Amino acid sequence: MKEEELEKIKQAAAACKKCELCKGRTNIVPGDGSFDAEIMFVGEAPGKTEDEQGKPFVGAAGKILSSLLESIKLKREDVYITNVVKCRPPMNRDPLPEEVACCADYLQKEVEIIEPKIIVLLGRHAMDRFLPGLKISLDHGKPKRKNGQIYYPVYHPAATIYHQALRADLEKDFKKIPKIIEKIKIEENGKI
Ligand code: URA
Ligand code: SF4
Repeated sequence: MKEEELEKIKQAAAACKKCELCKGRTNIVPGDGSFDAEIMFVGEAPGKTEDEQGKPFVGAAGKILSSLLESIKLKREDVYITNVVKCRPPMNRDPLPEEVACCADYLQKEVEIIEPKIIVLLGRHAMDRFLPGLKISLDHGKPKRKNGQIYYPVYHPAATIYHQALRADLEKDFKKIPKIIEKIKIEENGKI
């Protein structure tokens, strides 16, 4: 059921020409991973490798994400990984607000279908989409509840390539994820 619904989104996105980003793409990059995931990761936009392969986080940033997942005993197949926009911006520039707005429906539907316990926001763009007004340097590593959904902003893995100093923060924030999920589950059980 979830699989079919996600497939529908993939097909709609594959034909999508709602914003300018459709012009430069080789492949659409829809979300990928487990339909039953408890954790959903949201990045910014596909880069060169993602555009070539049609999969999110398969380049340099993806390597970092995979090793961070390993550090908390998870594999890519255990989680769901997606992006704010599904097509690669030219020269890897930041997605424009109108492009983010155009693509918002796909992301919203992914959230509704997966129903993750926690949405990990990888970097500023993902954070702005769900928790506007926060500052990643101040708010990373702090879970936030909004309309019943738990969000968890962390630095973008790619940011740690250029700013090595952020890597330790990102690793520390990842290590907290299992405990946060445990807490969410205890709270949920308490409600029944
Ligand atoms: N960076 C992102 O934000 N998303 C990807 O899919 C790859 C790199
Ligand atoms: Fe459509 Fe999103 Fe691609 Fe824009 S980025 S063309 S809205 S799928």
